[in-house]
Amino acid sequence: MGGVFADLVGQDQAVGVLRRAAAAAAETVAGGRGTGMTHAWLFTGPPGSGRSSAARAFAAALLCDGPGRQAADRGCGHCEACHLVGVGSHPDLTRVRPEGLSYSVRQTRDLVLKAAGAPTLGKWRIVLFEDADRVTEAAANALLKAIEEPPARTVWLLCAPSPDDMIITIRSRCRVVTLRTPPAEAVARMLTERDGVPPDMALFAARAAQGHIGRARRLALDEEVRRRRADVLSIPGSLGGVGDCVVAAERLVKTSTEEADAATAELNETETAELRKVYGEGSSGKGLNRGLVRGGAGALKELETLQKSRATRIKRDSLDLALLDLAAFYRDVLAVQFGAGVELTNEDRRREIEALARGSSPEDTLRRTRAIMRCRERLAANVNPQIAVEAMTLTLRSPGVG
Ligand SMILES: [Zn+2]
Repeated sequence: MGGVFADLVGQDQAVGVLRRAAAAAAETVAGGRGTGMTHAWLFTGPPGSGRSSAARAFAAALLCDGPGRQAADRGCGHCEACHLVGVGSHPDLTRVRPEGLSYSVRQTRDLVLKAAGAPTLGKWRIVLFEDADRVTEAAANALLKAIEEPPARTVWLLCAPSPDDMIITIRSRCRVVTLRTPPAEAVARMLTERDGVPPDMALFAARAAQGHIGRARRLALDEEVRRRRADVLSIPGSLGGVGDCVVAAERLVKTSTEEADAATAELNETETAELRKVYGEGSSGKGLNRGLVRGGAGALKELETLQKSRATRIKRDSLDLALLDLAAFYRDVLAVQFGAGVELTNEDRRREIEALARGSSPEDTLRRTRAIMRCRERLAANVNPQIAVEAMTLTLRSPGVG
């Protein structure tokens, strides 16, 4: 096996569907009937399950020019096309993320226009839409027209958490590929084989990340990420009085902001450097075309605006991940209270979890879990983070204390 699909952890069923479609697509390109290929695909699955990796692997399989003739040979992982897809510079693959919090009509129209062109290298013209659930309704209409009447060799790959996140008119025109949450053992094995993580650490990270592959890798490889997680999980045990709740809320908001800032800074730096290179800044200003300089300033300003709204989004996602960690902690407490002999997400904190399970009732645990979910909803509705999180920590506080 091997090839571009090898990285999709625990997704045998989806991989089977994609391999068959890629084989049918190759038949079409060769002038055959090629039944089984579709122009619009929707990749769904929980965050971190590898939606965009799956879409990218499929793109490679479609564009692959490896010599094999079998279905399993599409997406060989060795040829020039597979390599270009892997590094994100194949001329026939356009990979897009929303500029800011959502796709604008302008951005979507630009893409539709781009997608209408014939493929450069003669196979397919592919547009990979990350976070397609962030298409605004107006933008969705622009997209819908393109999906309804696709040019013969254009393929749309949309990624979203679940089919319900897409407006029905778009969803109904897509073939849905569902990825599942990969089992912790499979994620751990991948971390060990690919990243050389020791098995114990790999299993800890895979469990703690709850099937989120990227997060599992960060947890396994970065001590700072592990420290932040420990910080979040120390909250349940720290809520003695009202003052502690306020402090814990502050800490949670601060920790997730730090994590987001680190991620944002890295992204911004690369982009800004790229843009400056394009517009020739940093070289001697002399002899530079004045129009180009003006254009550069405009583009830089536009980039800064986009980066700012992305920073907001990353901050929100980062806090949400921290809340999911907390929710998993209480889910473990509940599992112990119900005596379910299951493996805990936070196996490393079993003693603490068992103590809390003994010292409270399942009703308490459910009430706390609801408080976390309510906090997530309020954050999604743009409530001030400190206020929303403080309301939550106050509810998480042990009953019968103070
Ligand atoms: Zn290939």
